[in-house]
Amino acid sequence: MARPKTEASKCPCCGCQTRRVHSHYMRRLADLPWQGRVVEIRLHARRFRCADRQCRQRIFAERLPETVRPKARRTSRLGESQLAIGFAVGGKPGSRLSHKLAMPVSGDTLLRMIRAAGFEPEAPRVVGIDDWAWRKGQRYGTIVCDLERNRVLDLLPDRNADTVASWLRRYPGIEVVARDRAGLYAEGARRGAPDATQVADRWHLLQNLGDALRLAIGRHRKAVTAAGKAMIAEIAENDDDAGLEPSVETSTKLDGLRRSRRNQRRERYAEILQLRTSGMWPRQIAPRIGVSVRTVERWLAAGGEPEHRRRTVRSVLMDPFQEYLETRWQEGQHNGLQLWTEIKRLGFAGSHKTVYRWTAARKERPPSSPPEARWPPPSRRKCAWLLSENPASLDEPAGRFLHHLYETAPELSIAGDLARRFALIRGDDDAGLDQGSRMPRTATWLRLPPASAVTSRLSGRR
Ligand SMILES: [Zn+2]
Repeated sequence: MARPKTEASKCPCCGCQTRRVHSHYMRRLADLPWQGRVVEIRLHARRFRCADRQCRQRIFAERLPETVRPKARRTSRLGESQLAIGFAVGGKPGSRLSHKLAMPVSGDTLLRMIRAAGFEPEAPRVVGIDDWAWRKGQRYGTIVCDLERNRVLDLLPDRNADTVASWLRRYPGIEVVARDRAGLYAEGARRGAPDATQVADRWHLLQNLGDALRLAIGRHRKAVTAAGKAMIAEIAENDDDAGLEPSVETSTKLDGLRRSRRNQRRERYAEILQLRTSGMWPRQIAPRIGVSVRTVERWLAAGGEPEHRRRTVRSVLMDPFQEYLETRWQEGQHNGLQLWTEIKRLGFAGSHKTVYRWTAARKERPPSSPPEARWPPPSRRKCAWLLSENPASLDEPAGRFLHHLYETAPELSIAGDLARRFALIRGDDDAGLDQGSRMPRTATWLRLPPASAVTSRLSGRR
């Protein structure tokens, strides 16, 4: 319980002193905790009559500027502590922490306090603008960072050129805007900060590189398949247990299903291609075929339908029992449950499902492991990665694979060489790049073409 000691109070309107108490009321204020206990101050607050007859504020509540703001329900010192928690850890975590520290406050209130604190950043010079997910896959906003101080400056509610432009206008000192390659932020930056240089950051440059390499691989799919086959043929030749008879067992039901799906994809691609050559845009083609616009674009860019490959999953738990299982398989025991019971007795700790997966995979495989099982041909993504890696760091089969690949598609060798030189920006050593004199050293920049060029390129074909 507390009671103000002063006898007089100042009118907030006219500022004159008065001692004329009008009435009393109880004010409850949350305060700093005491010995781990939540503290509430019950304040006998007073209302005063203004001494000045002319003042339009005839009655006013007593002000206690050092203790609490008008109408606030927490003391200023508690508010400061909670605000510090809010700034350090954010809304919900801050709320949990403050409950532990006996100064409970809700996450929403913390966020309100943070916003009311009116955080005004130091004028930024180099900003980065990118997408930011309010909810992944559903709602996106824009994040703006100060790239010199490595700090988030703001989260904008949407992805909109107008929003970005009006934000940038607030800071006329911005000299460099790092952005993705979409035309939207380019447009926003052009309008909001017309004098700023637009650049792409390292991450987006490398993303572009990855996309470009995958596209290149996609265009040479036949060469990739051929190189994979050449590798397998080579492995089969060097095999000790050569002379594998081609398996008859392989064409199982599952195989048939996969083949029919592959045919479906092929037909679908043929249809897409036909519509495209008749002059239709991906946006018009997609609803007719029943696939997304993105899929149409991707398939067209790659010049064919994708090859789906199933990854062979291998359980480490199974390793010590491989030999036993293989022997039993050869003897004719193909029952997963029976095999599981047997190896369990030998100490296998995994579940029967692991063994079922093994038997299923084993059924599809011709007798005695084929070269494909030991050297699965790389996926498109893996291939792009191989191309961009330093050849010295690759293992021997990968090197031989690339050798085969470059024989059929020498263009890919050039692509790989260019990619490796470009990927220098991954490291800290940027000696090979032209240095912009005013660019910060923390990141690597490349100037982007003017926004108009980018937008027109994006709206057209790749
Ligand atoms: Zn007054």
